Amino acid sequence: MIPTIPPSIDAESFARTRQKFSGEANAFQLERVAAELFSMEGVLVWSVDGEPWTDPRGRDRPHLHLRASGQLVVTCARCLGPLKQAIAIDRWAALAPDESSAEDEDLEAETYDVLVASSHFSLAQWLEDEVLLELLREPRHAECDLPAHLQVERSSAFAALESLRKRES
Ligand SMILES: [Zn+2]
Repeated sequence: MIPTIPPSIDAESFARTRQKFSGEANAFQLERVAAELFSMEGVLVWSVDGEPWTDPRGRDRPHLHLRASGQLVVTCARCLGPLKQAIAIDRWAALAPDESSAEDEDLEAETYDVLVASSHFSLAQWLEDEVLLELLREPRHAECDLPAHLQVERSSAFAALESLRKRES
């Protein structure tokens, strides 16, 4: 599959006409995600499909469905080494006609998001937002140690403290 950044779409007509897009994005193609990673080896397989929909209150709200899966390489918060993190995204978004309805309806909606039905809706930006939410805060290997240079600093600081104590006694 050719690596592809999700394109920008006319969100409403995409959903109403039940269009689909899919591709495979390299980590470095998603700029805001790339900034958070240890290395750019990861790949995400993504797909978006649209469909007409009526929300629980009877409002006409075309829907977009985003799926993405793959593996990214983040930085372990303890050893600062590479740590593989699986990504699995499966999100629905209803499309509201303007910013204020989107904000209000997003607060009401518990199981889906409400986004503005822009005619230049950036799928890449949506995917980036969802991936950033998935990235672990302070990711860590199950077992690892502090980086060697920090261990040395710690033991030499301890040695310095010891020699100080000896001098005082
Ligand atoms: Zn680690």
